[in-house]
Amino acid sequence: MAESIRVTVWGEFRHELRNPAVAAIYPNGMHEAIAEGLRADPRFEVRTATLDQPEHGLSEATLAATDVLTWWGHLAHHEVADVVVERVRARVLAGMGLIVLHSGHFSKIFKALMGSSCDLKWREAGERERLWVVEPSHPIAEGLGEYFELEQEEMYGERFDIPAPESLVLISWFKGGEVFRSGCCYTRGKGRIFYFRPGHETYPTYYDPNVRRVIANAVRWAAPCAAPTVTFGKYPPREALP
Ligand code: ZN
Repeated sequence: MAESIRVTVWGEFRHELRNPAVAAIYPNGMHEAIAEGLRADPRFEVRTATLDQPEHGLSEATLAATDVLTWWGHLAHHEVADVVVERVRARVLAGMGLIVLHSGHFSKIFKALMGSSCDLKWREAGERERLWVVEPSHPIAEGLGEYFELEQEEMYGERFDIPAPESLVLISWFKGGEVFRSGCCYTRGKGRIFYFRPGHETYPTYYDPNVRRVIANAVRWAAPCAAPTVTFGKYPPREALP
C-alpha cells in the first residue's frame, strides 16, 4: 500500500451548536461528516480540529504532522487568532496542502494566501447547483461524470474576486442564472491549495458522493511530494566562469 496521507479536517463548529436545523443534518458537526467521507480511503489518516479547542486545534505539533488541512468556517473567521493563521500559512508555503471549503472563501488564511478580497455574490434559496467538469484530465476530476448536481444549495455567483486559478476544474451553474468558478487550484511556495465551493450548513452536501469524491481527490492532489530543496540568495556558479 502506498504511504498514508495525514489529513486534519478543521471545522468552525458553531452553526451546529446554535441552529437545531444544522444539528439535525450534522449531529456530530460538519467536520465529522467531512472526516467520515475521507475515512473511506484507508490511505488517509484523518483527525479533526475545531475553533474552540486550544490553539483552535492547530498546534505546531498538529500542523507538523498534517499533510493536508481542510478548512470550513463561516460565522467566526475573525475569532481565528492571527498567530494560528500565520502558522498555517507558513506550513502551506513549506508544502502542506490546503483545501478551502465553501464559506472558507472569507477565512483569514484564504484571503492571506490569495491577496484579494475573495468577495462574491450569494443567495440562500435552496436552488439546484450543476457543477461542470471543465478540466476532465485533472486528478481532482477523477471518477466524476461530465457534471454532477446538488438539488439544494446556497448560490455563490461571479464575480468571485480571486486571482485567476492556475487550474480551474469545476464551474457551477445555478438555477437562478449565475455561474461560479467552484473548483480552483493554486500553488503558494511548495503548497497546493484547492478551493471547493459547495457546503452550505443547512444542506446535506457533505454526504453527497460526488462532493466526497472531489474532496478526497483534492486531498490526494494536494498532498506534499518529495519536492527538491530550494535555495535563495547569492549563489556560486555551477561551472567555472571566466
Ligand atoms: Zn453558506
